[in-house]
Amino acid sequence: MLPKVGKEVHVCAGSLEVENLPSVHSFLPWQKEEAPPFLGFVPATKKEKQKAKQAVAARGELKVQGGCSCGSCRFVLTRFPEEFQHCYCSSCRKLSGAAWQTWMPTEEGQLKWTSKVGLKKVRTTSHARRHVCTKCGVFLTIVYDEDDADACLQTVWPLAGALDDNYTKEDLCLRVSDVSHICVKYKQPWWTLPNDGLQRIKGAS
Ligand SMILES: [Zn+2]
Ligand SMILES: [Zn+2]
Repeated sequence: MLPKVGKEVHVCAGSLEVENLPSVHSFLPWQKEEAPPFLGFVPATKKEKQKAKQAVAARGELKVQGGCSCGSCRFVLTRFPEEFQHCYCSSCRKLSGAAWQTWMPTEEGQLKWTSKVGLKKVRTTSHARRHVCTKCGVFLTIVYDEDDADACLQTVWPLAGALDDNYTKEDLCLRVSDVSHICVKYKQPWWTLPNDGLQRIKGAS
């Protein structure tokens, strides 16, 4: 039974705990034109890469940056990430309210904060913490405890959804060589994985 608040309430489906929710056969594509380029992206073929190279060269260099919804927490990445992981674990679902969150594994020191007003790192699982903007409530990263020893050179994985919309599918074609679905055994039954040929991993790796 869904909660009733007033006449109509929209519930974030990803935050539901019900085990036996039926699978859904129809979704309304709402604001599809606002979807980010990484949604549904699969690594490019040689030919697509060639085309992308020309488009990116014509545009000029990309500043890879992102941040929270209110703008008080901002970061830059020293280069575009090479890997994207769509994660269906309960932490990702509960902390976003969505069916999944998409992570961009980066290397040590690749993410630099350019604005940190209201930024806090909070523990979200026994093995990791996440940066959150306490002004607008948006989660931005995950930092695994094993990578958290040195505050200056720590490995921080940002969420793909936090990237600014200044990059294109061509940037993905040129840089991204690995995209996978992870923690698929924790996926909610109402969400159907796309038939995209990408690797599906039961757990985290
Ligand atoms: Zn914010
Ligand atoms: Zn997750």
